[in-house]
Amino acid sequence: MTDLPQAEGGCGAGNERLAAQAAAAGNAELMARFKADYPVGPHDKPQTMCPAFGALRVGLRMRRVATVLCGSACCVYGLSFISHFYGARRSVGYVPFDSETLVTGKLFEDVRAAVHDLADPARYDAIVVINLCVPTASGVPLQLLPNEINGVRVVGIDVPGFGVPTHAEAKDVLSGAMLNYARQEVMAGPVPAPISGRSDRPTVTLLGEMFPADPMVIGAMLAPMGLAVGPTVPMRDWRELYAALDSKVIAAIHPFYTAAIRQFEAAGRAIVGSAPVGHDGTMEWLANIGRAYDVSPDKIASAQNAFGPAIKGAIAGAPIKGRITVSGYEGSELLVARLLIESGAEVPYVGTAAPRTPWSAWDKDWLEERGVVVKYRASLEDDCAAMEGFEPDLAIGTTPLVQKAKALGIPALYFTNLISARPLMGPAGAGSLAQVMTAAMGNRERMGKMKAFFEGVGEGDTAGIWQDTPKLYPDFREQQRKKMEKAAKLAKAEEMI
Ligand code: SF4
Repeated sequence: MTDLPQAEGGCGAGNERLAAQAAAAGNAELMARFKADYPVGPHDKPQTMCPAFGALRVGLRMRRVATVLCGSACCVYGLSFISHFYGARRSVGYVPFDSETLVTGKLFEDVRAAVHDLADPARYDAIVVINLCVPTASGVPLQLLPNEINGVRVVGIDVPGFGVPTHAEAKDVLSGAMLNYARQEVMAGPVPAPISGRSDRPTVTLLGEMFPADPMVIGAMLAPMGLAVGPTVPMRDWRELYAALDSKVIAAIHPFYTAAIRQFEAAGRAIVGSAPVGHDGTMEWLANIGRAYDVSPDKIASAQNAFGPAIKGAIAGAPIKGRITVSGYEGSELLVARLLIESGAEVPYVGTAAPRTPWSAWDKDWLEERGVVVKYRASLEDDCAAMEGFEPDLAIGTTPLVQKAKALGIPALYFTNLISARPLMGPAGAGSLAQVMTAAMGNRERMGKMKAFFEGVGEGDTAGIWQDTPKLYPDFREQQRKKMEKAAKLAKAEEMI
C-alpha cells in the first residue's frame, strides 16, 4: 500500500477540498474548465464506477495506442480489473508512486521515463497518460511531457473524480484531447488518409459509442441525400481523428461530448443534436442533417420517404405495452425513452446522469410534450424515488436501481448490458426493444412470488452470511448516529472558524 497524505481523498472525500487542492497545485484553469464542461448536479461525486474508466476504455480500444495510469494503487487495481472485465485486449500501463515521489516531483520524472521507454514507433501511434485523483490534486504536470517522442504522440490528461462526474464524460475528456492534437497536426500540414480509405461523398461524423450496426443503418439512411457516414468518435484508430475532423457535419448522437464538440467547432464544423430514433426522431434528424449540408428539400424528402414507412411498420409490428421508467448513465436515455413511447409504452420518467446540453434539447422537448419528467444529472436517489413513485411495470436503470427494483418485486433491466447492446437507430432500432421489454414485464408474477418467498431474509441489518440468528442492537445504532451527528457539527464549526 502507498503511504499518502493525500490518499484519504478521492471518491470518498470532499470534492470541494480536492478541487481546491488541485487549483492550489497549479490546476486552477483545468478545474474551471471541468466546471464549465461538466456542470455538476445533485451528484457531484461519482455514483457510478470511477469516471476515469471512460477515458481508459477509449484508450484501450484504440489500435496502436498505449494507455498509462498514474494514480493510487487501489484506484489502478479497480480500473484495470474493470477494464479486463469488459474485455480489454491489452495491458494497462501504471506508474506507481509514494508520498516521497509525489511530494518531491520525482513522480513526474518517473512518468516521463515510462513514456520514453514505451515510445516505440513500430508499436505505437500514441501514448495516453491519465492522471487520476491524487496526482491531479497534487498538480503532477502532464502538460510538461514531450508532445511526441520518436514520432509517437504523447497525450496527457487529468481525469479526477472530483472534476469529471461520470465515466461517460471521461470519454469526452480523452476524445477532446486527441481531437485537439489531431487538429493541430492537420493545421501543420498534410496528414495520412484513414486506413479504411476516404469516402467519395460528404460524410457525417457520429459522436458517441453505439451498437456496431447503428452506423451502418445511419449510412443507409444518409445515402439518398448523397451523404455517407463518417467515423464514430470515440475512435478506434488515430487516423480516424483526421477523417472525423474532415466531416463538415457532426452528429452529436450522445449529447455530452462537450470538449470534442469544442474541437469540431474550432474546425468550423456544424453540430446536429438528437439521433435518428423512432419515426419522429428519424424524420427530424434527417431533415436537420440535410439542411446542415445544404441538401435540397426533395432529396431530404426522398430519404424520409425511403425509411419513414419502414420504421412505422417495424414499430407497429413490435408494440410495447406497459409503464416503464428509464434511467442510466450512458447518455442515450432520452433516445431510448422516445423509442419506447413511439412503440406504445407509457414512460413517466427519464433520468440521465449526463448533464443538460443543447444537443438533447429536441429530445427533451419531445418527451416533455408527452408529459414525461426528464431529469438531467439524476442521482440514484432520484431514479429510485421515481421508480417507487410511478410503480412501473418495468424499471430500466443502473445496477443498484435494478437491485432495488427486484427487492420490491418490480421487473427491471440493466441499461448498459441489455439496452445499449441493441440497435436503436432507424428501421433496425424500431422494434428491437420489444421482445426483451415484453419478456421482462411478463416476469412480474414470478418476481412477486420470489419477493414473498424471501421476505425478511437478508435485509438491512440482517443482510449477509451469519453463523447464528443475527441479533439487532438498535441502542448501539442510535449511539453511533448521535456520535456522527456530533462529529459533523464539530467539523462544520471548525470550517467556519
Ligand atoms: S481515481 Fe477513481 S477510484 Fe480513485 S479516488 Fe478518484 S474517483 Fe475514486
